[in-house]
Amino acid sequence: MADIIHKLPDSVANQIAAGEVIQRPASALKELLENAVDAGASEIRVIIKDAGKTLIQVTDNGCGMTKKDAVLCFERHATSKIQEAKDLFCIRTLGFRGEALASIAAIAQIEMKTRLKDQEMGTCIEIEGSRIIKQSPCQSSPGTSVSVKNLFFNVPARRNFLKSNTAELRHIIDEFQRVALVQHNVGMHLFHNNKPIFQLSPSNQKERIIAILGNHYKERLLPVEQKTTEVSIYGYIGKPEFAKKTRGDQFFFTNGRYIRHPYLHHSVDNALSELLPKETFPTYVIFIDIDPSRIDVNIHPTKTEVNFQDNQLIYAILRSAVKQAIGKFNITPTIDFDVEQSLDLSMPREGKPIKNPFAREHKEFNPFDNRSIKTPPQKGWEKIYEGISDAPKDNETFNITAHYEEEIQFLSQLKGKFIISSIKSGMMIINQQRAHQRILYEQFMKRLEKQKQASQQELFPQNVTFSSSDSEIIKELIPDLEILGFSINHLGKNTFIINGTPTGLSNQNMQEMLEDFLETFKRNLIDLNLEQRTNLARSMAVRMAIKQGKNMQKEEMENLINELFSCKSPELSPDGKNTLVILPLDQIDQMFNN
Ligand code: ADP
Ligand code: MG
Repeated sequence: MADIIHKLPDSVANQIAAGEVIQRPASALKELLENAVDAGASEIRVIIKDAGKTLIQVTDNGCGMTKKDAVLCFERHATSKIQEAKDLFCIRTLGFRGEALASIAAIAQIEMKTRLKDQEMGTCIEIEGSRIIKQSPCQSSPGTSVSVKNLFFNVPARRNFLKSNTAELRHIIDEFQRVALVQHNVGMHLFHNNKPIFQLSPSNQKERIIAILGNHYKERLLPVEQKTTEVSIYGYIGKPEFAKKTRGDQFFFTNGRYIRHPYLHHSVDNALSELLPKETFPTYVIFIDIDPSRIDVNIHPTKTEVNFQDNQLIYAILRSAVKQAIGKFNITPTIDFDVEQSLDLSMPREGKPIKNPFAREHKEFNPFDNRSIKTPPQKGWEKIYEGISDAPKDNETFNITAHYEEEIQFLSQLKGKFIISSIKSGMMIINQQRAHQRILYEQFMKRLEKQKQASQQELFPQNVTFSSSDSEIIKELIPDLEILGFSINHLGKNTFIINGTPTGLSNQNMQEMLEDFLETFKRNLIDLNLEQRTNLARSMAVRMAIKQGKNMQKEEMENLINELFSCKSPELSPDGKNTLVILPLDQIDQMFNN
């Protein structure tokens, strides 16, 4: 038999390697940024077009490359950063594999200009799918500028796999932030489709964190510092009372590299456990500097996972550092964590006192107020049949619910969570929070689709400030937020003024309310790739819906049920969970069949 094994050509090998290193535009950006940092740049400028799908350009004023290196750097395993195996144990640079440029060059069109400081002319190189197309001397500033165009142009399957521009841009911003948080001495600029997103001048660590996370962090950060002979831990944690409802701004860096480390995360969480409001996540930016020989960064090609030799020791030191940070500044919780922090959507009727003490604070807030939300006229139970007959027939629940009583014979709330009622076929249990999310979601979607603005409630104007990236999101959403009933204006930079809100939101702290909303919105963006309006309606519905623990009067429950069954899909919450279950009578009978 003839020999059948042959070595793959470099271009193929590189394309395969690229699959591992470059998943999306943001991964290419990460590699280019790391190279710029390794080149000792003090200014880095990033230009992105179409969320990086068309162009990712990184320009630095670092050391530049010679004519020969400018070609060599695109070869596989070509690196200036390590020489021999033992160097792997003392890596101080971000890159060392010599894979990134070769990988990117295999799946994109690249134009690179580079010039050494002490040379008059630079080199310009064009590469497409690993092939050098052009190489010539050129005019250029000292440093390097790499343009990556049409990523995955020759791998359509990967290109099609990319998410929406909003989602890909979110990843780009994340990577940019991770580098910018560490490299506070480096001026860093990010432009997307010619609009500036970040313009960060060199600054101290804290200023940089605030410039990235947003001005509202100014009073929210506590310094963490603990230096031992093994490890140096420093950075900032957010005061626990500002902890977020979703995982968001949590950053660990080891020797200047962003890492994920669930174990160390647990350490911070644990140190703060007594102070963190239930189900919230602390904000932190923590740097862990350690002798490179005591870590192994080699376990994952994208290098966000790191193994410490002394995991447990670092866990303990970190925990004590965080505890100390809190103790030192003696912050006792300034808010009552038991207070329902979510929006209280009580539905008081005129003249009917509400027993729930929290409801009283928001008395004018009535989510089912027909003045603000156009709802169908009060329906009798027979109407509910109609709603149900539209529902998918294959859904078992609805075959059953088609047997409703014409009157509510029994209606009661269980544990502030569920509404229980008797229906013809048995018993129906409604999850009040999910049901209300569904109602609001459909109302919001209807308005957004019809471009019909909801009524507004005047608000004592409140200024709100976000990080640059969050401000971008809000700016984009302003027209739609206005349809939902917000009156919001961009004051410049990252500040907005809110003059009006959807009816009923007036008692809210708008900064907190919008931060919460943004967190859900961003999470949906990345995890679910939702269309922008769907995401807006969903995130807002989640934020505004009544929560578990909210006591309801009979009339409020009736309203909720009526509203629910005039929805298109009453059986599901916006994120696809059951809003209700039915316990058929025969099943109940069976339970007693003993
Ligand atoms: P690595 O960073 O792992 O060495 P890369 O493929 O990212 O591998 O880069 C290969 C080499 O090209 C680097 O080792 C460095 O010498 C050179 N290089 C890449 N980008 C730059 C840059 N922006 N400025 C100067 N040199 C660079
Ligand atoms: Mg590199």
